[in-house]
Amino acid sequence: MNSLWSPGIADLKPYTPGEQPKVEGLLKLNANEHPYGPSPKVQAVMREAIGDNLRLYPDSTSTKLRQAIAKQYGLLPDQVFVGNGSDEVLAHAFFAFFRRSGPLLFPDISYSFYPVYCGLYGVVAKRVPLDEQLHINPSDYMGEATVGATGIIFPNPNAPTGQALTLDQVKSIVQANPHCVVLVDEAYVDFGCESAASLVVDFPNLLVVHTLSKSKSLAGMRVGYALGQQSLIDALNRVKDSFNSYPLDHLAQVGAVAAIEDQAYFEWATQQVISAREQLTQNLMNLGFEVLPSKTNFVFAKHQHISGLELTQKLREHKILIRHFNLPRISEFVRITVGTFDQCKRLINCIESILIDVHHQAK
Ligand SMILES: *Cc1c(COP(=O)(O)O)cnc(C)c1O
Repeated sequence: MNSLWSPGIADLKPYTPGEQPKVEGLLKLNANEHPYGPSPKVQAVMREAIGDNLRLYPDSTSTKLRQAIAKQYGLLPDQVFVGNGSDEVLAHAFFAFFRRSGPLLFPDISYSFYPVYCGLYGVVAKRVPLDEQLHINPSDYMGEATVGATGIIFPNPNAPTGQALTLDQVKSIVQANPHCVVLVDEAYVDFGCESAASLVVDFPNLLVVHTLSKSKSLAGMRVGYALGQQSLIDALNRVKDSFNSYPLDHLAQVGAVAAIEDQAYFEWATQQVISAREQLTQNLMNLGFEVLPSKTNFVFAKHQHISGLELTQKLREHKILIRHFNLPRISEFVRITVGTFDQCKRLINCIESILIDVHHQAK
């Protein structure tokens, strides 16, 4: 390896993002991007903001954006931290809260950035197995199991399984662990599960992280945020201002406010995705798939006659990208992002013809 590198760089295992090939006619159902695009008001305010004085640095505290977010949840702006995508918010949280002593607990099947940040920041990972039905079991994050832990992190709904804990279950985990930060990564919460944001006022150890990438359809803009009591937010600000005090550019701040304030568009777009998800789930089950009940904008499914890898490869030949994880316990599954109704139909037709081929070959 390179002798000019700092120690440890050669040992990092970086995250692999969903691919973004530029191919004509490609149907991208591999990165949980939203099919409908953001509120039209986002583009309008951003165009206008280009005329503002981009010569100047942006508001380093993103005050208007934090105010807009706080208002949504009945919190104070000082209980909101914003970052350049929720991945950056997560990175700062790892740095601020999870480098004490002891392990960080997270599900064995979960968002694959968590182990990457553990590697980057020297945090010891303790992977807690999901149960047989691939559910998070709250009692695995209580009592003996968390004595001496530096923290707990899990997505709710979980990714890539799509399954959610109830608010009471999340609360029980937060309540049982006053000695460490419990970070609930709610990247997909808007697609059908209850946010733990309402618990922030009661629990000083709770940090709830959201993104505008999924339900607000702004993955390209990179805005995420954390909700927590002021002492947690203070720690995040200390880290941010020691790293990059201007993470959100002016256009992103303006666009994010517009997306958050256009509640009507958001509700419409979210409902489209939820309806398409239910239809897609039913259609996949009709084709013989086992589909986990999803509270997200993707489904996690497997079929007894075709492996996850083979299905992913065959769909690619038809210019449809989905995601396969070559990992223990889930290698038979595929993760499929919910598209528009038409896109789901194209997918289903394709899978149907692939299954017919597989069936003929088996004879
Ligand atoms: C997509 C995703 C994120 C990151 O989103 P950003 O685009 O960085 O805001 C974080 N956590 C989970 C579980 C995700 O699926």
